[in-house]
Amino acid sequence: MKGIFYCVKCHKVATIRHKCNPLSYVSITRNMRFIVDTMNDLGLELMSAVSYVENIDRSFSHKLELELEFRYEYNEAILQAMPDGWNWYKFSVKDGKVWLSGLRYIEEYVWTGAETVTDRLNHIIKEFENYLGTRDTQATKSILMLMGS
Ligand SMILES: [Zn+2]
Repeated sequence: MKGIFYCVKCHKVATIRHKCNPLSYVSITRNMRFIVDTMNDLGLELMSAVSYVENIDRSFSHKLELELEFRYEYNEAILQAMPDGWNWYKFSVKDGKVWLSGLRYIEEYVWTGAETVTDRLNHIIKEFENYLGTRDTQATKSILMLMGS
């Protein structure tokens, strides 16, 4: 899926003529828009949110990967009890001087004829959207303030 820039302020794709502050742009694949919007409502700022599907050796196996990169380093307590397969990780930018937080989901999905790879990917996204929908916005923002992140 082709990556695009999405403006979380205007809730639309940011083209070259878009005039918002680039800090409100998130590099996404289209299927991640709702996740980006919900994260933003919770006060969590993303830099990118993308999904990848990679066929393994022309077999029925596919590697499904979803990756969310935040603009800050967050305390992992901010999102707890995520759906199975989702994990926090840290990555560095600026030659290792700055560490940021990310969330990642990786699965090797074997197609057996029932659910297509796209259906499976949509299912994982939907499950995570539902999870984010259960988060309390005010509580999450309070935790962010307390932690000073
Ligand atoms: Zn905008």
